Amino acid sequence: MKILVAVKRVIDAEVKVRVKADHTGVDDANVKMSMNPFCEIAIEEAVRLKEKGVASEIVAVSIGPAKAQETLRTTLALGADRAILIESDKNIESLAVAQILKNIVDEEQPQLVILGKQSIDSDNNQTGQMLAALLDWPQATFASELNVEEGCATVVREIDGGLETLKVTLPAVITTDLRLNEPRFASLPNIMKAKRKPLDIRPVSETGVDVSPHLDILSVEPPPTREAGIKVETVAELVDKLKNEAKVI
Ligand code: AMP
Repeated sequence: MKILVAVKRVIDAEVKVRVKADHTGVDDANVKMSMNPFCEIAIEEAVRLKEKGVASEIVAVSIGPAKAQETLRTTLALGADRAILIESDKNIESLAVAQILKNIVDEEQPQLVILGKQSIDSDNNQTGQMLAALLDWPQATFASELNVEEGCATVVREIDGGLETLKVTLPAVITTDLRLNEPRFASLPNIMKAKRKPLDIRPVSETGVDVSPHLDILSVEPPPTREAGIKVETVAELVDKLKNEAKVI
């Protein structure tokens, strides 16, 4: 079974993002970039399925700038067999990403596509769902447990107030939640080996997908800065302030 994993290069989760002076977006110049954490979980799950003998090949795909090659090399060091970069310097919206991924699915014919449930930069949470709709394949989103056997995937999903277990027939689209697994680190020998694994780079113009934006970002604002707290002398003073100033009790 072949698995396709979609990975996005995003601003590292540890970076304190700065909003651009003109409020059109966030500043990513000279900022540390990494693989989207949910995509790390997606690649880890694919590697575990390969280690179990369920998957025979893992293909990682990213749509992004030339530097996304680094992200794809990381997937190769973690256990992907080959990688495809659809190169574009422009930010590509989810629908176009899903359309590009659909073209790659048509070409590669995987039995399973694993994506992250959301990108931590845009917080869209929609690419997997759009891809499943375009392919007309079953989808199981927010997976916290995945078992694949006999042409089906059993997926435990985290939903409000509990867990839901779904059985989907393959081929299917699955998106990963935080608790699905704990991704491994790439070992040095595997980082070296990854340099020799195939990485196919194609310009986005070759995909035939219209990547012109459909959304206008009107303004991006940083969260309000937190006001400094105060120290109170007594419990009575605290209770008084909570009651009469904060009005929370
Ligand atoms: P989103 O819908 O943007 O929150 O992203 C959900 C998931 O879709 C991500 O975790 C990736 O697996 C995939 N994805 C989104 N954008 C891209 C991209 N540019 N390249 C590859 N995969 C992507």
